[in-house]
Amino acid sequence: MIHAVHLFPTTMNTYGDRGNVAALSRRAAARDLELEWHAVELGNEPPPRCDLVFMGGGQDRVQHAVADDLRTRREWLAGVVAGGAVVFAVCAGLQLLGRRYVAADGSELAGLGLLDLETLAAKPGEWRLIGNVVVEVAISDGAHVMAGFENHGGRTWLGDVEPLGRVLAGFGNNGEDGSEGARNGNVIATYLHGPVLPKNAWLTDHLLSLAVSHAGGEARLTPLDDSFEDLAQAEAIAAARREAARATGGPLRRARRRLSPRY
Ligand code: GLN
Repeated sequence: MIHAVHLFPTTMNTYGDRGNVAALSRRAAARDLELEWHAVELGNEPPPRCDLVFMGGGQDRVQHAVADDLRTRREWLAGVVAGGAVVFAVCAGLQLLGRRYVAADGSELAGLGLLDLETLAAKPGEWRLIGNVVVEVAISDGAHVMAGFENHGGRTWLGDVEPLGRVLAGFGNNGEDGSEGARNGNVIATYLHGPVLPKNAWLTDHLLSLAVSHAGGEARLTPLDDSFEDLAQAEAIAAARREAARATGGPLRRARRRLSPRY
Protein backbone atom coordinates (compact mmCIF):
# COMPACT_ATOMS: atom_id res chain seq x y z
CA MET A 1 0.00 0.00 0.00
CA ILE A 2 1.32 3.45 -0.92
CA HIS A 3 0.27 6.14 1.54
CA ALA A 4 -0.04 9.63 0.07
CA VAL A 5 -0.84 12.84 1.94
CA HIS A 6 -2.72 15.69 0.26
CA LEU A 7 -1.94 18.76 2.35
CA PHE A 8 -4.74 21.34 2.65
CA PRO A 9 -6.92 20.08 -0.23
CA THR A 10 -9.71 22.60 0.32
CA THR A 11 -7.38 25.54 1.05
CA MET A 12 -4.59 25.02 -1.49
CA ASN A 13 -6.33 24.03 -4.71
CA THR A 14 -5.94 26.78 -7.26
CA TYR A 15 -6.31 26.17 -11.00
CA GLY A 16 -7.32 22.53 -10.69
CA ASP A 17 -4.31 21.32 -8.75
CA ARG A 18 -6.52 18.62 -7.23
CA GLY A 19 -6.26 16.99 -10.66
CA ASN A 20 -2.73 15.96 -9.77
CA VAL A 21 -4.20 13.64 -7.13
CA ALA A 22 -6.48 12.07 -9.74
CA ALA A 23 -3.56 11.58 -12.15
CA LEU A 24 -1.45 9.77 -9.55
CA SER A 25 -4.41 7.63 -8.48
CA ARG A 26 -5.29 6.70 -12.05
CA ARG A 27 -1.78 5.72 -13.05
CA ALA A 28 -1.32 3.72 -9.86
CA ALA A 29 -4.62 1.88 -10.42
CA ALA A 30 -3.67 1.13 -14.03
CA ARG A 31 -0.78 -0.90 -12.57
CA ASP A 32 -2.84 -2.47 -9.79
CA LEU A 33 -0.85 -0.46 -7.26
CA GLU A 34 -2.82 0.32 -4.09
CA LEU A 35 -2.52 4.04 -3.35
CA GLU A 36 -4.42 5.51 -0.39
CA TRP A 37 -4.81 9.29 -0.12
CA HIS A 38 -4.99 10.96 3.29
CA ALA A 39 -6.47 14.48 3.16
CA VAL A 40 -4.76 16.62 5.82
CA GLU A 41 -6.52 19.95 6.31
CA LEU A 42 -5.22 22.84 8.41
CA GLY A 43 -4.77 21.58 11.95
CA ASN A 44 -5.33 17.91 11.10
CA GLU A 45 -2.90 15.17 12.10
CA PRO A 46 -0.98 13.42 9.28
CA PRO A 47 -1.15 9.61 9.00
CA PRO A 48 1.49 7.51 10.81
CA ARG A 49 3.29 6.70 7.59
CA CYS A 50 3.62 8.43 4.25
CA ASP A 51 5.35 7.76 0.95
CA LEU A 52 4.33 10.93 -0.91
CA VAL A 53 3.13 14.41 0.08
CA PHE A 54 1.37 16.75 -2.36
CA MET A 55 0.60 20.44 -1.81
CA GLY A 56 -1.17 22.58 -4.41
CA GLY A 57 -1.27 26.30 -5.03
CA GLY A 58 -3.21 28.96 -3.18
CA GLN A 59 -4.05 32.63 -3.11
CA ASP A 60 -1.95 35.11 -1.14
CA ARG A 61 -4.78 35.52 1.35
CA VAL A 62 -4.53 31.88 2.53
CA GLN A 63 -0.75 31.67 2.51
CA HIS A 64 -0.45 33.27 5.96
CA ALA A 65 -2.72 30.65 7.54
CA VAL A 66 -1.02 27.84 5.66
CA ALA A 67 2.46 29.09 6.56
CA ASP A 68 1.46 29.18 10.25
CA ASP A 69 0.16 25.61 10.03
CA LEU A 70 3.16 24.36 8.05
CA ARG A 71 5.53 25.67 10.71
CA THR A 72 3.92 23.27 13.20
CA ARG A 73 4.61 20.44 10.75
CA ARG A 74 8.22 21.25 10.00
CA GLU A 75 9.67 18.39 12.06
CA TRP A 76 7.22 15.90 10.54
CA LEU A 77 7.84 17.05 6.95
CA ALA A 78 11.63 17.19 7.41
CA GLY A 79 11.42 13.63 8.74
CA VAL A 80 9.31 12.52 5.76
CA VAL A 81 11.93 14.02 3.41
CA ALA A 82 14.88 12.60 5.35
CA GLY A 83 13.22 9.19 5.19
CA GLY A 84 13.20 9.37 1.39
CA ALA A 85 9.49 9.97 0.75
CA VAL A 86 8.48 12.27 -2.12
CA VAL A 87 7.26 15.83 -1.66
CA PHE A 88 5.61 17.45 -4.69
CA ALA A 89 4.48 21.07 -4.46
CA VAL A 90 2.89 23.52 -6.87
CA CYS A 91 3.14 27.32 -6.91
CA ALA A 92 2.28 28.60 -3.41
CA GLY A 93 3.32 25.15 -2.20
CA LEU A 94 6.72 25.73 -3.82
CA GLN A 95 6.94 29.17 -2.25
CA LEU A 96 6.20 27.88 1.26
CA LEU A 97 8.79 25.09 1.00
CA GLY A 98 11.38 27.85 0.53
CA ARG A 99 13.09 29.99 3.16
CA ARG A 100 10.71 32.92 3.02
CA TYR A 101 7.84 34.53 1.11
CA VAL A 102 7.58 38.32 1.15
CA ALA A 103 3.90 39.08 0.50
CA ALA A 104 2.60 42.06 -1.49
CA ASP A 105 1.86 43.96 1.75
CA GLY A 106 5.52 43.60 2.74
CA SER A 107 4.77 41.02 5.44
CA GLU A 108 7.31 38.23 5.52
CA LEU A 109 6.25 34.61 5.86
CA ALA A 110 8.88 32.18 7.08
CA GLY A 111 8.88 29.09 4.85
CA LEU A 112 9.96 25.60 5.78
CA GLY A 113 13.42 26.00 4.28
CA LEU A 114 13.26 22.55 2.63
CA LEU A 115 14.25 24.30 -0.61
CA ASP A 116 16.92 27.02 -0.64
CA LEU A 117 14.84 29.67 -2.37
CA GLU A 118 12.94 32.81 -1.57
CA THR A 119 9.95 34.46 -3.17
CA LEU A 120 9.15 38.16 -3.40
CA ALA A 121 5.52 39.02 -4.25
CA ALA A 122 4.86 41.27 -7.20
CA LYS A 123 5.32 44.93 -6.33
CA PRO A 124 2.39 47.29 -7.03
CA GLY A 125 2.15 47.75 -10.78
CA GLU A 126 4.33 44.71 -11.49
CA TRP A 127 2.75 42.21 -13.84
CA ARG A 128 1.65 38.80 -12.66
CA LEU A 129 3.47 36.00 -14.50
CA ILE A 130 0.62 34.33 -16.36
CA GLY A 131 0.48 32.02 -19.33
CA ASN A 132 1.32 28.67 -20.82
CA VAL A 133 4.76 27.34 -20.06
CA VAL A 134 7.07 24.77 -21.62
CA VAL A 135 10.05 23.55 -19.61
CA GLU A 136 12.90 21.18 -20.37
CA VAL A 137 13.54 18.85 -17.44
CA ALA A 138 16.41 16.41 -17.04
CA ILE A 139 15.82 13.52 -14.63
CA SER A 140 17.50 10.17 -14.10
CA ASP A 141 16.08 8.60 -17.27
CA GLY A 142 16.87 11.54 -19.54
CA ALA A 143 15.42 14.83 -20.77
CA HIS A 144 11.68 15.48 -20.77
CA VAL A 145 9.32 18.28 -21.74
CA MET A 146 6.93 19.61 -19.12
CA ALA A 147 4.01 21.80 -20.18
CA GLY A 148 1.46 23.60 -18.06
CA PHE A 149 0.02 26.93 -16.99
CA GLU A 150 1.41 29.51 -14.60
CA ASN A 151 -0.30 32.31 -12.71
CA HIS A 152 1.75 33.86 -9.93
CA GLY A 153 2.77 37.28 -8.80
CA GLY A 154 5.64 35.97 -6.74
CA ARG A 155 9.15 36.02 -8.17
CA THR A 156 11.20 33.07 -6.88
CA TRP A 157 14.98 33.21 -6.70
CA LEU A 158 16.98 30.03 -6.20
CA GLY A 159 19.87 29.74 -3.75
CA ASP A 160 21.84 26.54 -3.43
CA VAL A 161 19.20 24.38 -5.11
CA GLU A 162 18.70 23.01 -8.62
CA PRO A 163 15.86 24.29 -10.79
CA LEU A 164 13.40 21.60 -11.83
CA GLY A 165 14.03 22.68 -15.40
CA ARG A 166 14.82 25.41 -17.90
CA VAL A 167 12.10 27.56 -19.49
CA LEU A 168 11.60 27.07 -23.23
CA ALA A 169 8.49 29.28 -23.32
CA GLY A 170 6.79 31.30 -20.62
CA PHE A 171 8.17 33.03 -17.52
CA GLY A 172 9.11 30.40 -14.96
CA ASN A 173 10.33 31.25 -11.46
CA ASN A 174 10.88 34.94 -12.03
CA GLY A 175 10.70 35.82 -15.73
CA GLU A 176 14.39 36.64 -15.69
CA ASP A 177 16.80 33.75 -15.24
CA GLY A 178 15.07 31.00 -17.23
CA SER A 179 14.72 28.69 -14.25
CA GLU A 180 11.47 26.87 -13.46
CA GLY A 181 10.66 25.19 -10.20
CA ALA A 182 13.18 23.64 -7.85
CA ARG A 183 14.24 20.22 -6.74
CA ASN A 184 16.36 18.84 -3.93
CA GLY A 185 16.47 15.05 -3.95
CA ASN A 186 12.87 13.85 -3.60
CA VAL A 187 11.52 17.35 -2.97
CA ILE A 188 10.17 18.49 -6.34
CA ALA A 189 8.36 21.78 -6.89
CA THR A 190 7.01 23.65 -9.89
CA TYR A 191 4.90 26.70 -10.69
CA LEU A 192 2.93 24.75 -13.27
CA HIS A 193 -0.80 24.39 -12.77
CA GLY A 194 -3.21 22.94 -15.25
CA PRO A 195 -3.20 20.51 -13.41
CA VAL A 196 0.33 19.70 -14.43
CA LEU A 197 0.44 15.90 -13.95
CA PRO A 198 -2.36 14.75 -16.32
CA LYS A 199 -0.54 16.26 -19.31
CA ASN A 200 2.95 15.21 -18.25
CA ALA A 201 2.71 11.43 -17.82
CA TRP A 202 6.46 11.03 -17.35
CA LEU A 203 6.39 13.32 -14.28
CA THR A 204 3.43 11.50 -12.77
CA ASP A 205 5.27 8.20 -13.20
CA HIS A 206 8.50 9.69 -11.84
CA LEU A 207 6.72 10.73 -8.62
CA LEU A 208 4.81 7.43 -8.44
CA SER A 209 7.98 5.40 -8.95
CA LEU A 210 9.74 7.25 -6.12
CA ALA A 211 6.73 6.68 -3.84
CA VAL A 212 6.47 2.97 -4.78
CA SER A 213 10.18 2.53 -4.11
CA HIS A 214 9.84 4.25 -0.72
CA ALA A 215 6.94 1.92 0.09
CA GLY A 216 9.20 -1.06 -0.66
CA GLY A 217 7.77 -1.88 -4.10
CA GLU A 218 9.30 -2.21 -7.57
CA ALA A 219 10.26 1.26 -8.79
CA ARG A 220 10.19 0.24 -12.48
CA LEU A 221 6.58 0.84 -13.53
CA THR A 222 4.82 -1.00 -16.34
CA PRO A 223 4.58 1.34 -19.37
CA LEU A 224 1.08 2.61 -20.19
CA ASP A 225 -0.50 3.94 -23.39
CA ASP A 226 0.15 7.68 -22.94
CA SER A 227 -1.37 8.78 -26.24
CA PHE A 228 -4.15 10.81 -24.57
CA GLU A 229 -1.77 12.47 -22.11
CA ASP A 230 0.66 13.22 -24.94
CA LEU A 231 -2.13 14.85 -26.95
CA ALA A 232 -2.93 17.07 -23.96
CA GLN A 233 0.73 17.99 -23.64
CA ALA A 234 1.00 18.74 -27.36
CA GLU A 235 -1.94 21.15 -27.08
CA ALA A 236 -0.33 22.87 -24.09
CA ILE A 237 2.92 23.24 -26.05
CA ALA A 238 1.00 24.61 -29.05
CA ALA A 239 -0.75 27.13 -26.76
CA ALA A 240 2.63 28.25 -25.40
CA ARG A 241 3.94 28.52 -28.97
CA ARG A 242 1.01 30.71 -29.95
CA GLU A 243 1.56 32.94 -26.92
CA ALA A 244 5.31 33.19 -27.55
CA ALA A 245 4.59 34.18 -31.17
CA ARG A 246 2.07 36.82 -30.06
CA ALA A 247 4.28 38.17 -27.29
CA THR A 248 4.58 41.82 -28.12
CA GLY A 249 6.61 44.56 -26.46
CA GLY A 250 6.13 45.61 -22.91
CA PRO A 251 8.14 45.02 -19.77
CA LEU A 252 7.96 41.25 -19.92
CA ARG A 253 8.79 40.82 -23.62
CA ARG A 254 12.30 39.69 -22.82
CA ALA A 255 11.00 37.13 -20.41
CA ARG A 256 9.08 35.23 -23.05
CA ARG A 257 11.34 32.77 -24.72
CA ARG A 258 10.47 31.56 -28.16
CA LEU A 259 10.07 27.84 -28.33
CA SER A 260 13.10 26.25 -29.88
CA PRO A 261 12.40 24.90 -33.38
CA ARG A 262 12.13 21.34 -32.12
CA TYR A 263 8.90 21.99 -30.22
N1 GLN B 1 -0.13 33.77 -4.19
C1 GLN B 1 1.08 33.29 -4.87
C2 GLN B 1 1.50 34.23 -6.02
O1 GLN B 1 0.67 34.87 -6.62
C3 GLN B 1 0.87 31.92 -5.44
C4 GLN B 1 -0.32 31.84 -6.37
C5 GLN B 1 -0.63 30.41 -6.77
O2 GLN B 1 -0.46 29.46 -5.98
N2 GLN B 1 -1.14 30.29 -8.02
O3 GLN B 1 2.70 34.27 -6.35
